[in-house]
Amino acid sequence: MPWYKKLHWQIIIGLVLGLAYGVVAAMAGWGGFTSDWIAPFGTIFLNLLKLIAVPLVLASLVVGVTSLSDLGQLSRIGGKTMGMYLMTTAIAIAVGLLFVNVMQPGDTVPQELSERLQVQYQENVEEGQGLAESAQQRGPLQPLVDMVPGNFFSAATDNANMLQIVFVAIFVGIGLLMIPEEKSQTLVRGFDALNDLVIKLVELIMLVAPVGVFALLADTITTITADSAGDILNLLGALAYYCLAVVLGLATMVFVVYPLLLRLFTGMPMSRFFSGISPAQLVAFSTSSSGATLPATMRCAENNLGVSEEASSFVLPLGATINMDGTALYQGVAALFIAQVLGIGLALGQQIELILLVVLISIGTAAVPSAGIVMLVIVLENFGIPAAGIALIVGVDRPLDMLRTTNNITGDAMVASVVADSENQLAREAAPGGDGMAEDVETTVGEPAQRGTRSAERS
Ligand code: ASP
Repeated sequence: MPWYKKLHWQIIIGLVLGLAYGVVAAMAGWGGFTSDWIAPFGTIFLNLLKLIAVPLVLASLVVGVTSLSDLGQLSRIGGKTMGMYLMTTAIAIAVGLLFVNVMQPGDTVPQELSERLQVQYQENVEEGQGLAESAQQRGPLQPLVDMVPGNFFSAATDNANMLQIVFVAIFVGIGLLMIPEEKSQTLVRGFDALNDLVIKLVELIMLVAPVGVFALLADTITTITADSAGDILNLLGALAYYCLAVVLGLATMVFVVYPLLLRLFTGMPMSRFFSGISPAQLVAFSTSSSGATLPATMRCAENNLGVSEEASSFVLPLGATINMDGTALYQGVAALFIAQVLGIGLALGQQIELILLVVLISIGTAAVPSAGIVMLVIVLENFGIPAAGIALIVGVDRPLDMLRTTNNITGDAMVASVVADSENQLAREAAPGGDGMAEDVETTVGEPAQRGTRSAERS
């Protein structure tokens, strides 16, 4: 396939053309034409993303929770695994927030440009500031109260209530686990089908992403460069700085946090871990899908790291579905970056709330390319940050997706090693001759990820 037919290149082309068009349109005074005839396509793209957010979270989480039903005798491993997954995801977001707070990439955008962007996104900015103020006045348990909806349908009518949907999904999932299988099966299958459908819709929406990105950027740039074209360079500089914050955060997780946890819990040397898992990391990097990488991750863990089949076949499929440290880190940095660019401050209390929300949102993120940025819309809406702000970062999303997916599967493999070791199921020596990359790995790459993941969970 020629390079220009690949989606991520098309999105980058959309970004560059949107930038170029914005400058030309600003100079030629095409502001009215742009907002009448170009901007609506950007709004449609955004609306499509918002449209699937509720069903995506609901279906993906219910399926994730009900897939635990096979575990029976593995419930002890289940507890440890979930504990490690939640802990590492929370650490990842905290690391991301640390970098973005210290580096402040959004603040490199000059005050004047930031003010113009704020005018453009006026309504949401006011909402965000209002939320920040009211957050400071609320009681300590209010976030907990806010999580539990009094009515499912009213929760589902507003994307800003996504935490409530997350709560309902987990609650329903647990309930389904507790009723007889012949009764729950029909519903579980329904949610599974809904999940597959939504993932297909994400794929379809991403097909129009190049046009959506073009339109969103054309409109943004036309408005902000009406006075000075030099602003674009400032914006691009801030974007590069934002990417650096994400990359440094991911590197900290992969090269500092994971090796430390491994050493602490298993004593496995870093060199053995990295040489064992690197084939799977390369697959993750090139597919941007932890689901598609799952067979490679499992083989590497079993053949190279010495994780028992029993542990690997439970911990890794579950991890591919719900453990997304890299994605969570990225979502935290991206949300704060957009807020910084638009001059919306998030108080410490709100950042703690952000950690909680992103842990849950990352659990509900599908293991497929670009899922992280789709779910980011939910995070933004919850904090009154304009969802249209993703226009600023979507152009650089693919390379970051490749890196965060690599982080995601590395985290899964680390937890698999720790859990296996705690069960005396971690061989000290790797299996002879196995490089973890049997022929079926290659054939699985690029296949619809979620199917591989879910079916592996059930088998
Ligand atoms: N591509 C990521 C994964 O499959 C999810 C994301 O978009 O962050 O792990």
